[in-house]
Parts: sequence; C-alpha cells; structure tokens
Amino acid sequence: MSEESDVLVIGAGTAGTYMSWLLAKKGHSVILIDKDARNDVGKRLDVIHFETDRFENSGIPMPKEGMPEYLGTFTRSTINSPDFKTRITVRALQTIMRLSPFLQRMYGIVEKDGVVLKFNHAFKKLIFQDNKIVGCVVETGGNAIEFRARVIIDASGTSAVVRTSLPPDYGIETFKLGPHDVMHVLLDYIRWKKPEEPHPSIENSYIYYQSWFGPSLTEDGAILGIGQGGSYEEAKKALDILLEKAKFPPYEVIKKERGITPYRRPPYSLVSDGIACIGDAGCITYPFSGHGVTATWNLCKILNEVVDKALQQEGYITRDLLWDINVKYYRDQGAKFAGLLTQLSGILNMSEKEWNYLLEKEMIYKGGDDNEEIPEPNKEYEEEMSLGEMLAFLGKLIAGLLGRRLSFKNVNQLLNANSLSGKIKKHYEKYPAKTSDFEEWLMEAKKLWEKKKVAYKQFTPTFKIEYP
Ligand SMILES: Cc1cc2nc3c(=O)[nH]c(=O)nc-3n(C[C@H](O)[C@H](O)[C@H](O)COP(=O)(O)OP(=O)(O)OC[C@H]3O[C@@H](n4cnc5c(N)ncnc54)[C@H](O)[C@@H]3O)c2cc1C
Repeated sequence: MSEESDVLVIGAGTAGTYMSWLLAKKGHSVILIDKDARNDVGKRLDVIHFETDRFENSGIPMPKEGMPEYLGTFTRSTINSPDFKTRITVRALQTIMRLSPFLQRMYGIVEKDGVVLKFNHAFKKLIFQDNKIVGCVVETGGNAIEFRARVIIDASGTSAVVRTSLPPDYGIETFKLGPHDVMHVLLDYIRWKKPEEPHPSIENSYIYYQSWFGPSLTEDGAILGIGQGGSYEEAKKALDILLEKAKFPPYEVIKKERGITPYRRPPYSLVSDGIACIGDAGCITYPFSGHGVTATWNLCKILNEVVDKALQQEGYITRDLLWDINVKYYRDQGAKFAGLLTQLSGILNMSEKEWNYLLEKEMIYKGGDDNEEIPEPNKEYEEEMSLGEMLAFLGKLIAGLLGRRLSFKNVNQLLNANSLSGKIKKHYEKYPAKTSDFEEWLMEAKKLWEKKKVAYKQFTPTFKIEYP
C-alpha cells in the first residue's frame, strides 16, 4: 500500500502545520503526518508566547477574546539587573497563547484548505531511488505504509527524525542536538500565596539569570521560567541562586513543564534533493529568547514560494531547484540570527557585577518613559548603532574599565564577539546563489564559526555554566 502527494510534511507542530497550509493554498496536494494522536499534539507545552507582529503577518486569522487558545497580549517587559537596583522597560509585543488549542484551531483551518492530516503516523525511514529521496516508510497501528512525495519536509521538532536519518553525504548536516546545542527551559506554573500583597508582575525578567515571570492561566498566578545551557540540573541550580537573592513573596508551584529549545547554528544547508527542513528540526530559533514558533514562519514563506515554483516543473525536485530557500533565508533572517548568536558568546561571559554596570548605564537595553516610543530590542533582530551611539558605548566601556566595574578579559571577549558577529553576518549575506559556489563559501563559514569563543556564566566561584 502506498500514498502519494506533492508534498509530505513530517510533524504537525506549529512549523509543519503552517507550512502545509501555505502549500495547500497554492493548490498542491499536501499530506501532514504526526506520530501523536490529534488531541495530544502540542500538549508538551501549555502557555506559549507569539511575537504579535510576526503572528499578524503570518496570515493566520488572529485569535479573539473568548477563544480557548487566547490568553491576552502584553506590550512591555521590565528587565531587572542582578542587584535589582536597575529596572529598564522595553517594548515586547507578545500574544499569549495555549499551544494545544491553537493547533486544534489550525487543524480545522488547514483541513478546509485541503491539507490531508494523518495522526498516529510515525516516520520510520526514507525511501531512495538512484540515491535520491522519493518517499518514506511510516508506521501506523502496527502497519508500515509507504508515502511517496516530490518533496519531503522535516518539521519533526528537536528530534529532527528525517534530517538525522539522512546519509552523511546527502547535503544537509545530520547532527543530533546534544546538551550544549540547546537551552534547557524549566517552567513553574505558580500561584502567589498572598496575591493581594506586592509581588513581581508578569512582565519582569532577570536577564543575568535568563529567568522571567510570564502570564499564566490564572490572575493570581504566573509562570516562573528559566532557560540555561548545560543541563536541567544546572538550570535549576541557577534558578535557586536567583530565588535565594530575590526573596520573592511566598508561592506554591501548581504544575511544572520543561523542554529543550535549539541554541546553535542551523545546518549550513536546509535543503537537498527532494527534502527541506524547518522549525526546531532546522534549529530556527530567535537567538536571544529561544522562541521558535514565529521565527520559522518567515522561512516557511520562503519555502512556499520556492517549492511552489519547483512543483510547477516536470521531473525530480533537485537540490538546485530548492537552493533559493537557502539563499533567501540565509542572506536575510539567517544572517541576522547567525550574527546575534555569535554576539551572545561575548555577553553571556559577563559577570554579575558587570551586568549591573551594563544595565545601569543602559548599554544593552535603553529605557524610555511612558510618553516615548520605547525601543523594542532586536525588533528586526539587529541593533544598528549610529556613530554617536557607538562613541557613547565605547566611552562607557572605558569608564567601566577604569572604574573596575568591567574586566579587561571580559570586555575583550565582548568586543571580539561583536567583531566576529559582524563578519559572520556579512558572510551569510553573501550566501552563494549557486550550488557550485557552496564549497568555497562553506570553508570560510567553518573557519569563522571556529573562532567563536566558549562563554562561561560564572554564578558562584564553584558553579559555572558553559556555552560553547
Ligand atoms: C519550555 C519551552 C517553552 C517555550 N516557549 C516558547 C514561546 O513562548 N514562544 C515560542 O515561540 N517558542 C517557545 N519555545 C520553542 C518552541 O516550542 C519551538 O521552537 C516550536 O514549538 C517548534 O515547533 P516545531 O513545529 O518545529 O516542532 P514541535 O512543536 O516539536 O513539533 C514537532 C512535531 O513532530 C512530531 N514528530 C516527532 N517525531 C515524529 C515522527 N517520527 N513521526 C511523525 N511525527 C513526529 C511531534 O509529535 C511534534 O508534534 C519553547 C520551548 C520550550 C522547550
């Protein structure tokens, strides 16, 4: 028995569902499979944030008050220094959603537009003909079924089941996510024991600890989150240090969630003969937040355009036909993300004392009063500094060094990381238009990434987390 379609998408999370919808609206036959039961997909997380502007640009009908998935929006976030003396308010346009009800609504929408959904269907292995992908074997109810498609899209999340099963020389890197390739995120759904008494609002973040309070399901509650490299144990240890220092009012933990989000560069190529990867399977996450839902929707739009064009041609969908996906993605968002990821190795290395200085002097985030347009950091995922701002920044760095509030070693790493970040970004902006020029580009890209330094977040003299 064999099923056939133009496109087969593996994984009905936010990436695969959105991707399937776009291609079905172009008139292509799309089958979307997931290993889980329809009602269970997305249950690994409950409350989740979508960047509002990206959500609006996706074309998905926006949620309304009263829908089970919609919990509200927020527009600001307050960043606290490690000593809690500096508080900076920045713009953060976020729509707060419940993941599983959102996916259930999406399934209704995509089905109406022609996507064939198949749940309890698990990808098992790829099928090749003349060393090129032509389909895959899927298991459902103990049976193995063949699915044939002209393009297969891996949207299977952090397990990247299709990408990691490719032959090593197929044209897409097959790495699996190890502990140093991810952020370990812990979410505690809490309820304040005395909600009428002052407590941190749901818009507070503790950037040095990579920890925050976010909206929860009830008015008297919040989600206390933390995301750290290393391991869950190390993330918990860092959270305990924050809790010890912050002395938040008493609360009870109602439920706990945890998971990983990719924190590494994506594969150098996202496509090869008959295949592309998106979402967590392609490591597409905003470097500063680890958010992945709307981060990949830009890539999905590019795929939609390129795959649509390729499908209109007769014959096999080769790597060459899909190459424009790499070109369009890596020359724009991919270049910005690569630059930001590199910058992080400078900033993550700064000590607690140094973070106090950087925030006090508004060197990383700039605040604003309520009447002003409050800047939203990394709105377009890059910070352009004017010459005046650059000079002011350097002046504060020198003052920090002279006043011994910054160390030469860490400032040096920060400046080196910024310089490397610029080079890496520029290199991705020159992503080769033709596959024949890729090897040369790749050699230079590898050399640049090798220069990225390990960062150490030193919480106590005996406890540090490593960020390779
Ligand atoms: C604790 C935590 C909090 C987060 N919070 C946010 C947030 O607030 N905002 C945000 O934007 N991002 C957030 N992220 C990141 C975000 O969850 C992911 O980036 C995003 O969900 C990735 O979507 P995806 O569709 O690529 O993968 P997934 O949502 O993981 O979907 C992959 C799907 O593939 C299916 N699958 C896997 N293997 C197979 C197989 N063999 N056969 C068939 N199907 C298979 C799975 O069942 C799954 O449904 C968070 C991550 C974590 C861990």
